[in-house]
Amino acid sequence: MKEKELKKIIDTFFVCNKEELVEIFEEFLNALDAESNLSPGGCMSRNYETAQANPEIHNLPGNLKDARDAIFPYFWGTDEWYSKLHLENVKGPANYASLIGAIACLLKNPNLCVDTYSHRSNELEVKAITALANLVFYHTDSPWGIFNMGGTISNLYGGRIGIEKVLPGAMTKGLQGSKIIGVVSGAAHYSNETLAGWLGLGTDHLISVPTDERFAMDLNLLEQLLNRSYRENKKVAFVIATFGTTDAFGMDDIAEIRRIMDEQAEIAQQPKPQLHVDGAVGWMLCFLNEYDLIKNPFSLTTEILQIVEKAQKCSEKLKEADSITVDFHKMGWGHYPSSAFIVNRREDLKYLNRSKAQIPYFSEAKYRHDPALFTLECSRPAIGPYSVMASLNGIGLTGYQMLIARSLEMAFKMKQILSELKYCKVLNPKSVGPNVVWWVLPKGRNAEEIYQELVAGTLSKEDKNRYFEEMKHLFDKRVSTLDPMKDARLSYTNSTGYSPHESQIPAWKAVFFNPRTDEEVIERIRHSIEHL
Ligand SMILES: *Cc1c(COP(=O)(O)O)cnc(C)c1O
Repeated sequence: MKEKELKKIIDTFFVCNKEELVEIFEEFLNALDAESNLSPGGCMSRNYETAQANPEIHNLPGNLKDARDAIFPYFWGTDEWYSKLHLENVKGPANYASLIGAIACLLKNPNLCVDTYSHRSNELEVKAITALANLVFYHTDSPWGIFNMGGTISNLYGGRIGIEKVLPGAMTKGLQGSKIIGVVSGAAHYSNETLAGWLGLGTDHLISVPTDERFAMDLNLLEQLLNRSYRENKKVAFVIATFGTTDAFGMDDIAEIRRIMDEQAEIAQQPKPQLHVDGAVGWMLCFLNEYDLIKNPFSLTTEILQIVEKAQKCSEKLKEADSITVDFHKMGWGHYPSSAFIVNRREDLKYLNRSKAQIPYFSEAKYRHDPALFTLECSRPAIGPYSVMASLNGIGLTGYQMLIARSLEMAFKMKQILSELKYCKVLNPKSVGPNVVWWVLPKGRNAEEIYQELVAGTLSKEDKNRYFEEMKHLFDKRVSTLDPMKDARLSYTNSTGYSPHESQIPAWKAVFFNPRTDEEVIERIRHSIEHL
């Protein structure tokens, strides 16, 4: 062995050289600074061709600056989404308290699978999960859960428990040809299709219940579906309700869904399915649970107070759920990956146990120390717990309340402005979230009338297609003429989730997620629409 060279490698890459690290870190921060003067959207064009053709690896050992240089163009060419003009979707900016947490986590690099690999980081996960559980379930005795890489996986955990509940032994024996279904709403996130496929249920057996105009699952149709399914001798593994749909922020009625599910299961003398709530985006409304509507400490307007009151009423029903998905990397403004899967009652985790035959339930100690006994993952990052606890205690409950209330204010303002334009129509006027979905038709058209005809089923297919084409055309026109330094970046959805007479409804979309987005941005949107 070349001892001298080896020692150099160890000294460079396995010994912490503070000065060099700080220097490089500062360079990254300076790049962020410089970037803030540019328009959002990535300040470098992509070069995918060479990414595959030239995946170079240095031959000789180098230093930390080589590491920096290897990734810098890609770092520079990536938008950090701090710009107030980003309204496309529920995406970043991550807050800087979360950064402190995330960096601390990376410095220790714990693996949350077992206590012996992660020590107090595992304890921090218990704390973070319990903090979030108390927020969403409000009063809960024995919540438990884990962090994982995203809402998709959190939903997968919920679906998995449901299958095991109605088909015990499925973990070892598989589905054994059982007729088994899962239920979601027509406005649910596509991740539910992913889990139905990956869990072996099959996407054909994930049944979506159409939503009403509020983008909430139609409860009569849910009842009929469950009744019919049981009569056809199908097993119902789970209902995944959506608490805040991704496009229009529709809210399923959790308490009513619970009542209907339990009633139908009882009539059919079948085990109760899992009621999992996909709260990936909507969970953040729970920060407002204790906002005092009478004292109104933030001096919110009457309209916003009404929205907060409605949010409180919806959130109260979450305690009826068996489990929930909380994406802290969405409206917790945390870093990826920070999704939490939380069960309302700890004993439900027994359904995830790897060797159920041997261990019918976990002892307290095992739960606490070895989540790997039931988690999908073997190696699990701790970014989630670090991001959550750093953010919650940096920003504080009141801070979060203010941030959420600001989002609601901006969304409301946007809706108000659009409702003054006759050729525009807000599709989710009553929703309680930061999302606005709307139509923009050519001037002279009456958007409200056209919408009512669509809902009534009196709009011809030709007219409908023409209007939708006009709307997309206007959206593209705005994109090609906007001033990237001043005009907000919006998005376009082909289906908002409400499909009257089975026709999907497209819309322009804006999500008021970024706390820096102000009224000026909204005024510019009005201006850009008026001048199309
Ligand atoms: C974003 C989202 C998901 C998926 O979550 P990821 O963290 O992106 O995997 C699931 N459900 C809803 C409602 C979402 O908005």
